[in-house]
Amino acid sequence: MSSKVYFTDMTTDSRKNLFDKTGQLAEKAGLCDLVETKDLVAIKVHFGELGNIAYVPPPIIRVIVEMVKEKGGKPFLTDANTLYGGKRHNAVDHIETALKNGFAYETVGAPIVIADGLKGADFVNVAVEGKHFESVKISSAVHHADAIIAISHVKGHELFGFGGALKNIGMGCGSPGGKQIMHSDLIPKVKEEKCTACGVCIERCPENAIDRVKDNKAFINDELCISCGECVAFCPSRAIPINWKTDETVIQEKTAEYARGVLNRKKGKSSFINFVMNVTPDCDCAPWNDLPIVPDLGILASLDPVAIDQASLDLVNRAPVIMNSVLDGQKDTEDKFRAVHNQDTSYILKHGEKIGLGQRKYDLESLWLRQNYKEGE
Ligand code: SF4
Ligand code: SF4
Repeated sequence: MSSKVYFTDMTTDSRKNLFDKTGQLAEKAGLCDLVETKDLVAIKVHFGELGNIAYVPPPIIRVIVEMVKEKGGKPFLTDANTLYGGKRHNAVDHIETALKNGFAYETVGAPIVIADGLKGADFVNVAVEGKHFESVKISSAVHHADAIIAISHVKGHELFGFGGALKNIGMGCGSPGGKQIMHSDLIPKVKEEKCTACGVCIERCPENAIDRVKDNKAFINDELCISCGECVAFCPSRAIPINWKTDETVIQEKTAEYARGVLNRKKGKSSFINFVMNVTPDCDCAPWNDLPIVPDLGILASLDPVAIDQASLDLVNRAPVIMNSVLDGQKDTEDKFRAVHNQDTSYILKHGEKIGLGQRKYDLESLWLRQNYKEGE
């Protein structure tokens, strides 16, 4: 058994431009067949960090928005707030960033809903019974949506090796506290000199693990703390530093379990489209984008998030390296993202398969190519 993945390359002519190809590919893959009248459809995107222009262009996203509307659905563009500071850490900054990056209603045809609310406190605990988590913190707008279509930009990432559909929905739909616990299990520590004694962490802590000590400053009791990450995510003074220390296997497996939490409530109501273009070495969260490592390869669509990511990865690994990119001149570039980040990209795919998100074996159907493309050539 293998999962179907549809693919088209980036070649266009006067009869078929990229908008036509995106729409026809989505149609062929049945991306919007899951939409029923009045469904609230979460279109999970990445709005891009300011300074980065490698994310999927908003006018292309509109193609999917229009298709959802034609089916009678009510689409909204969504992403959750970040754990770190930056320009997408709360809903106000996040929406302003999205608008500056071109995601205006007039362009995309759908409103923006930041999935976990103003400060990242709007999430739902979803049972997953995974290897790492019994439950995960899924942003409420994603959880409560009737369907989800993930539009993912395939690119490198320093902890995952690469990011595609699984990372987009797993890490991308977790609340900031969830993002912290995916990144690290370490017990956080308060930096006394930065603590203003505001008490926000004490209000957020689900375990009453934080006491007030000298000058009312916060102190975390290691014996009670469960490393849930809420105090890290909510301290307004950044007095509880983010723990980034992680093991590549663990963060990837945890992210797959978050993806499980997103999709648990969306059986038959989720679909995926990956854009393998502007394949930058780093994530869209970086406030810059370096030269892509390979040429623009194409668009893939599937109902299986594991298969679409595996197929995207295989395409990248078979492609030539771009001149002047970070891989130019490197000898061993068969596994491109490993060559950039020295990370094994396979853990998220293997664990995703193991927990029933999909399968790595896929059947690639190539459409509307200038030159006939055969898998493996
Ligand atoms: S939220 Fe931050 S600044 Fe406020 S008491 Fe806790 S550690 Fe101190
Ligand atoms: S990580 Fe969670 S349990 Fe630990 S102190 Fe912070 S809020 Fe409390």
